[in-house]
Amino acid sequence: MPESPYPMLLVEEALALIEREVRPLSPVTMSFSQALGLVLAEAVLAAEPMPPFAAASVDGFAVIAADGPGLRRIVGDQMAGYVAGLYIEPGTAARVTTGAPIPPGADTMIMIEQTEEQNGQVNILTNDLQPGANIRPIGQDIEIGQVVLPQGTVLGPAELGLLGTVGKTQVTVYPRPTVAVMSTGDEIVEPHQQPELGQIRDANRFTLMSAVRQAGAEPLDLGIVRDKANSLQDTIERGLAEADALLTSGGVSMGQLDLVKPYLASRGTVHFGRVNTKPGKPVTFATVDGKPCFAMPGFPVSALVSFEIFARPALLKMAGHSRIYRPREQAILAHAFSHTAARTEFQRVVLTRRADGKLVASSTGFQGSGRLLSMVGANGLVILPHGQGDFEAGTVVEALVLGPVEVVL
Ligand code: AMP
Ligand code: MG
Repeated sequence: MPESPYPMLLVEEALALIEREVRPLSPVTMSFSQALGLVLAEAVLAAEPMPPFAAASVDGFAVIAADGPGLRRIVGDQMAGYVAGLYIEPGTAARVTTGAPIPPGADTMIMIEQTEEQNGQVNILTNDLQPGANIRPIGQDIEIGQVVLPQGTVLGPAELGLLGTVGKTQVTVYPRPTVAVMSTGDEIVEPHQQPELGQIRDANRFTLMSAVRQAGAEPLDLGIVRDKANSLQDTIERGLAEADALLTSGGVSMGQLDLVKPYLASRGTVHFGRVNTKPGKPVTFATVDGKPCFAMPGFPVSALVSFEIFARPALLKMAGHSRIYRPREQAILAHAFSHTAARTEFQRVVLTRRADGKLVASSTGFQGSGRLLSMVGANGLVILPHGQGDFEAGTVVEALVLGPVEVVL
């Protein structure tokens, strides 16, 4: 059998090369309303305090605490949204709604529930009058000049609301990487087609494009490409021209028509072309004109697991994220797992959390590289390291947590 010219790297070595080669994209400035899920490339400071004026936090009456309980003359209404120009002197009160400015002179708000109104007067029914009570002082939530969102923050709902609060309508963020995705193979047909004998429908473009989207990047569909040097080259070039990164599947094994690696090597640098991993041994990482290219094996599970292990962290790094890896946790194997010692294996599992807080991993069944059903319902990958054989039930191994874990009591 011919040997691959590429040295076999350990998973950690391959990940280190990706981290070394992949850089965040150049930041862009855009409307904050478009920035959900993106990473801030600048720190955001508050130019004004929040609240910007002393504001009522309840509906009720603004009074002077030292006046104590009893009757006050109502001098007017202060609703939210304007300044009524009232002044509170001893023995007087103003009707004030939540969020409205506290009229000068007043130092406390009495909740409406603790008052009684009678012909132009209000009776304060509580003995407990504390200066400052039920008033949000200037700058209570945000001080003037405070960094509200540091550089590197991932913008979620709360962060977008804060940008609104401080009036930061244009933000500088790392853009969403555009990722060109193609399937290769003479046997691959579109899902709506009826395969002839020898043909199969495309799975990988759909798994990979959705995985790209879930990673916060934008897929660009390059379709199915035949195992012909010319069409392959044209399509790879189109991807490189139009996208920030390239994902291919198929055509990276040792077959005669496996043309992806040689072309990437001719156009740029192949950093690795073999990793000691199962599934996904022939996974290939190259850079062409500084753009990361991942060539995944064709077997659907290999393609998706390779994406998960190698391409996803790269896309997150391009998008400016600092936490680019899935959480790793110890998991107890619910049953025996067979494993060949030669390679590090990422087996698809359902992770559940026991009442004692420990994670338990159960296999999703037959782990064939073509059996995409082994990914269905999986929320984790257990890492069965090379150098060790089968694993007994109860063994504790590391697992990558890919999704929400149900707690089983
Ligand atoms: P390859 O890596 O091109 O040698 O392909 C390995 C196996 O994966 C073969 O059985 C292919 O038919 C299959 N395969 C390749 N590409 C796809 C695809 N896009 N969707 C489903 N199966 C594929
Ligand atoms: Mg092929």
